[in-house]
Amino acid sequence: MAALDITADLTPLTPDQQARARGPDRLIWCLHTTALRQPELRWIHTGHPPNCPKPHVTTHQCPGRHQPNPQPALF
Ligand SMILES: [Zn+2]
Repeated sequence: MAALDITADLTPLTPDQQARARGPDRLIWCLHTTALRQPELRWIHTGHPPNCPKPHVTTHQCPGRHQPNPQPALF
C-alpha cells in the first residue's frame, strides 16, 4: 500500500456535507484503521458500500487560500 501524500481533515462528514465538499479537486476519503491502529485513507471508488459505517473525510482546504497548483516549498 503506497502512502498517500495528502492533507485530510479528519472530521467525519455527514452525507450532506460530503455531497457539498466533493469537487473536481477535492475528494472524499474513507477513513480506515490499520491493524497497527494507524489511520489510513482509502479512496472511495464505485464499489464502495453506500451504507459504509466508517467515517468519511475530505481533503483539507484553508478557507480563502485555495491553491489548485501549490508552489513547491522554498526550504
Ligand atoms: Zn467508507
